[in-house]
Amino acid sequence: MTNLILFGPPGSGKGTQAVTLAEKYGIIHISTGDLFRYEMSNNTPLGLEAKSYMQKGELVPDEVTIGMLGNKVEANPDANGFIFDGFPRTVAQAQALDRLLSDKGQEVAALIALEVDDDEIVARILNRGKTSGRNDDNDELIIRNRIDVYNRETAPVFDYYAQTGKTKRIDGIGSVDEIFQRLCAEIDAL
Ligand code: AMP
Repeated sequence: MTNLILFGPPGSGKGTQAVTLAEKYGIIHISTGDLFRYEMSNNTPLGLEAKSYMQKGELVPDEVTIGMLGNKVEANPDANGFIFDGFPRTVAQAQALDRLLSDKGQEVAALIALEVDDDEIVARILNRGKTSGRNDDNDELIIRNRIDVYNRETAPVFDYYAQTGKTKRIDGIGSVDEIFQRLCAEIDAL
């Protein structure tokens, strides 16, 4: 069983890569952003709560996010592994993930970080916003806030996993296929 965290700032290409990696390695892709958008589109209480944070580029509170993620993992008892995209985004989420996996005798195999600089991120997200239909992709102030939140709250997750030697860094600039090959090389070496 291989559990991977695909890590990196918003707009670094995690979602695009996670879909193809999940197919190639036969593991389940879990994107907490996608799960929240699904709840929002169905106007569920969870979706309505998440919306107020997402619209500002803030993080949805840990207890809400961790509960939703746990349900999704539990809903896939026969999974061969997971690729987590957009989770964990805080150290508390990382600790909760480790507990959830260790209760199943599992662990995170690696955290692979896609490195992309801030100006490239803003340009990519604004471009994505032309077609994604996401409010949080269309406003540069919200995008900059998402990057600040990433640097403040999410970057420490890298250091948390670095302590156990599980972190890898990948250059996130290049074609989708080039980056996919770099990711596969890291995963195959695990
Ligand atoms: P994403 O699609 O990963 O860019 O996530 C979009 C938004 O969903 C984020 O800006 C947050 O508001 C929320 N979100 C997604 N994943 C998480 C998470 N792990 N913790 C807290 N909020 C999250």
